[in-house]
Amino acid sequence: MAFEGLTGRLQNVFSKLRGKGKVSEDDVNEAMREVRLALLEADVNFKVVKDFVSKVKEKSVGKEVMDSFTPGMVIIDIVNKELTDLMGGSQAKLAKSNKPPTVIMMVGLQGAGKTTTSGKLAKLLQKGNSRPLLVAADIYRPAAIKQLQVLGEQIKAPVFSLGDQTSPVEIAKQAVQHAKDNSLDYVIIDTAGRLHIDEELMEELKQIHSSVNPDEVLLVVDAMTGQDAVNVADSFNKQLELTGVVLTKLDGDSRGGAALSVKAVTGCPIKFAALGEKIDALEPFHPERMASRILGMGDMLSLIEKAQANIDTDKAKEMERKMRNAEFTFDDFLEQMDQVKKLGPIDQILDMLPGMNKAKGMKDLKVDDKQMGRVEAIVHSMTKTEKRQPEIMNHNRRKRIAAGSGTSVAEVNRLIKQFDEMRKMMKQFSGMMGGGAGGKGAK
Ligand code: GDP
Repeated sequence: MAFEGLTGRLQNVFSKLRGKGKVSEDDVNEAMREVRLALLEADVNFKVVKDFVSKVKEKSVGKEVMDSFTPGMVIIDIVNKELTDLMGGSQAKLAKSNKPPTVIMMVGLQGAGKTTTSGKLAKLLQKGNSRPLLVAADIYRPAAIKQLQVLGEQIKAPVFSLGDQTSPVEIAKQAVQHAKDNSLDYVIIDTAGRLHIDEELMEELKQIHSSVNPDEVLLVVDAMTGQDAVNVADSFNKQLELTGVVLTKLDGDSRGGAALSVKAVTGCPIKFAALGEKIDALEPFHPERMASRILGMGDMLSLIEKAQANIDTDKAKEMERKMRNAEFTFDDFLEQMDQVKKLGPIDQILDMLPGMNKAKGMKDLKVDDKQMGRVEAIVHSMTKTEKRQPEIMNHNRRKRIAAGSGTSVAEVNRLIKQFDEMRKMMKQFSGMMGGGAGGKGAK
């Protein structure tokens, strides 16, 4: 996950400051030296680091910090605010035209994730009850049209294509007309990429631009390429007037430098972040939340939004009723796991919880998707009665379940124990709430 190294290093710096009742100028200097190194190591642009550190330093030796009883906390707050500012201050929203359709041109180098991101963006717009049209204007990469069509089918969004013999400019023009005729409110044009920026590519993009006059020109860049991504953004921006950047592959092993430098170097805000290959792995980019995540302070707001968008509230209510009445079975347990999985990969969910980065011996806890798969396999190997009455599970049954699920008896034991404890807690809880179907909130 991006930023892991940076978060760890910054937390070290701050934990030293936090313990102090008074902070001297020397302490601040020492801390800022470490912050500088941490940012450089995260591949943040050299000039950006210099400016950032000098701003933070200036504010940190001010009276407010020196007079505070908790100077360390005040400095963390300053860093948090400056990090937020560095990434654009507040969320840069996607434009919406008063005269639909809103036209979005997706540009970028080959392999950055343009086609995938076009599909993801369409999906995100659909979630907001919009009707996007995907446009296959990359006629050079042989598989690009097909790839977009497959994505379109997957999310049930229309895909406009005229094959690979019509010029991209013509395709874009006709697509916009098609959207108008069919009352579609967004047009997402997937343009061609190249391995490197070249004249021909830029010329084509400029022509498409002048023929459809897009409301958004979004540059898709691969965050894993760090400073290269920032340089690419800078070159594109000089020729095309980008309206925003989409950072992809933030789920990978990127150090975070691109996210922290793009806005400062190009003046272009990051509008979306992609955190995976799956179709719903695209999020609007919130600088303040990202700063909070980088500092290991979690991102509860994003987590709550994800939960609201993805969790089936009827099922959640039913689950609550079962918990109150202590009717919870292994089947319910699986169902609940399913709901949690809808929120995304577990490590990403953990990243949004405050303090989880510090607790990242968390990795040893093995709460990854694979582990969840094993739990599922164990439950699926139980008989109906066993799922409802785990107390009947003797050694032979446990051995059979372990063999059936390809796990070990120890793993089966652990799961049953966890489940027992959960049930006990629920019983106590429902007792406290008055218990039974008449309990408060039972529906
Ligand atoms: P294009 O040439 O710019 O259209 O790139 P594609 O959309 O074909 O993407 C190139 C590769 O990057 C594909 O294998 C995608 O699955 C992958 N990819 C795109 N976005 C992400 C992301 O956010 N995370 C990860 N892990 N992979 C991504």
